[in-house]
Parts: sequence; structure tokens; C-alpha cells
Amino acid sequence: MLLPSFEFHEPLSIKDALELKKNLGENAKLLAGGTDLLVHLKKKLVTTKNLISLSRIKALSQITKEDDAIVIGACTTMAQLSSSPVIQEKFAALKSGCDNLGTHLIRNRATIGGNACNASPAGDTLCALLVYDAMAILESSDKKREIPVADFFIGPGKSCIQKDEILTGFRLPIPPENSGAHYIQLGKRKSSEINVVNVASFLEYDPGTGKVITTRIALGSVAATPIRSPKAEESLVGQTPEEASFFAAGEMARREDCRPIDDFRGTAGYRQAMVGVLTKRTLATAYERAKGASQ
Ligand SMILES: Cc1cc2nc3c(=O)[nH]c(=O)nc-3n(C[C@H](O)[C@H](O)[C@H](O)COP(=O)(O)OP(=O)(O)OC[C@H]3O[C@@H](n4cnc5c(N)ncnc54)[C@H](O)[C@@H]3O)c2cc1C
Repeated sequence: MLLPSFEFHEPLSIKDALELKKNLGENAKLLAGGTDLLVHLKKKLVTTKNLISLSRIKALSQITKEDDAIVIGACTTMAQLSSSPVIQEKFAALKSGCDNLGTHLIRNRATIGGNACNASPAGDTLCALLVYDAMAILESSDKKREIPVADFFIGPGKSCIQKDEILTGFRLPIPPENSGAHYIQLGKRKSSEINVVNVASFLEYDPGTGKVITTRIALGSVAATPIRSPKAEESLVGQTPEEASFFAAGEMARREDCRPIDDFRGTAGYRQAMVGVLTKRTLATAYERAKGASQ
């Protein structure tokens, strides 16, 4: 399968990329790592006369520390994220998501922004972005806005990004002391497989009372977009973090919060059952990490 012909543009700054996007309008697509877009172009699922490559814009592939947050540039690759000390130390669930995405070759190209803009309900970094309360940073030539990642996804393959905007990055608050997170994906094979179910959990507890203060749980592949699991989260706040309360949260996620469908990868019933299991397991590991206070 050959790629169709197109004009290739390589701006060196966000400003120039936005200008090109504005001028070329509907006739252009943004290219990051190309691991989704080039496949879609080859299969003729997408057509375009112009590709605007973002990969030479240095500001888009950096991880920057701020006082109480980090900003991850949209073109940061999975491999870069996995080897970043701050991601390893503070954002273990995101690191797991990056490590589980595709193969080495794919992880060297695939970007976090491309994963989000592809907006698959099964995307491997998206549950982690949800549980770390990430903000998506969107820029056009005349404005910059930040929205919660939970509002970024609006349907399978659809995000709220406007025609004149580029996703420039994500802002993630540094997780507090006594918190931890974990991510597990379940596929039919270990790698290069679309997930059947994927779950991330974040948990913060108060070492004084021993109770859970905050929890965020995100479910992938069980709804039209990656989703938070509000009933499961509510059920855990104020509880003692232990097997029984993790099991109860898993039951809430399974019974109340997910809306899976049957497809050739798995039945809705199987997905629902696995949501319960993975929610409980991710919470247990998140708590272990919180106690270790290393995450
Ligand atoms: C063999 C193979 C295995 C894979 N395995 C997995 C897997 O296990 N898990 C998983 O989640 N995914 C997987 N994928 C899918 C893909 O690798 C990821 O979704 C990847 O993160 C996409 O990033 P990219 O940089 O390659 O995006 P691209 O293909 O460059 O772009 C994807 C889409 O996002 C848009 N876009 C990209 N960047 C921006 C931006 N900054 N602003 C606005 N729009 C933008 C593009 O226009 C395009 O529509 C796999 C793909 C392949 C080919």
C-alpha cells in the first residue's frame, strides 16, 4: 500500500504551524509520529493535500517542570516519557501506559498528543491522563485555552479540538505526598494489540486517619470515550484502603459506571467483569505506592 501524494510542510515553531493551519484550513492535516495518520492515509480512510509535520518544533517535545505541575509537550514520544526521571518518579501510571503502547519501533515515534487526538476509547495513555487530572493545552493563532482532559474526548475518534487549533501539550499537577497510581491494560496479546479493557487508578490517603482522601479511577475500552468512574470513586472516599473497599469500588465501576459493547475482541459481559477485577488491582497497587511515598 503506497501513500498518496501530498505537500509536506515542516514548520519550526508553533506560531508558524498555526499560521499554516489557518491558511491551509480543511486542506491540511497535522502529523506527529504518523503511527495512526500514515496508516489511515495508506488505507484511504483519510485524504489530504497537505501534511503539516510538528516533529521539528522543539517546544512540542519537551517535558517542563513548573512549581506544582509538569507540562508535557504534545509531540513527546512514548519512549521519551518512559525514560524521563520525573515520569518514572511521579507518574508511574503514565509510564505504564507508555510502556504498554505498541512495540519499541512504535514507541519511538508515537506521541502523547497523537494518542489523545486519535481519541480511541482504548488509547494507552488516556486513562493515566484522566487520573492525574491533566489539562489539555490548545492553541490557535489568536487564543490559548486549557481544558480538563475529561472534556477533551467527545466520541470514538473525536475530540473537542477546533479546526484552527493545535494541541500543544498537557499540564499535570505533581501528585501530593501519600498518593500513588497504577495502570493495567488487558489485551488478547501482550503488545501491539488494541486493549479489551484498560484501567488506571489514583489514590491519596491520610496517614493520620488511615482513610482515603481522594481517588480517581479511569476506565478505557468500555464506553465511547475513556471515562472516569464517579460511583466507584465516591464509594472509596473516607474508607479504609483495604481489600474490601477496593473490591466494593470495583463492583461500583463494573455495575454502575461502565457501558461496554460486544465486539470481536470481547463480550460486554467479559469487559464488565474485567473492569471490576482491574479496578480492584490498580487500587491495591496505587495504595502500595502511596504507602511507599515514592510515587
Ligand atoms: C503497529 C501499531 C501498534 C499500535 N499499538 C497501540 C497500542 O498498543 N496502544 C495505543 O494506544 N495505540 C496504539 N497504536 C496507535 C498509535 O501508535 C497511537 O495512537 C499514537 O500515540 C499516535 O501518535 P502519533 O504521534 O503517531 O499520531 P499521528 O498518527 O501523527 O496523529 C494521529 C492523529 O492526531 C492528530 N494530531 C497529532 N498530533 C496532534 C496535535 N499536536 N494537535 C492536533 N492534532 C494532532 C493527527 O492529525 C491525526 O489525526 C498503534 C499503532 C500501530 C501502527
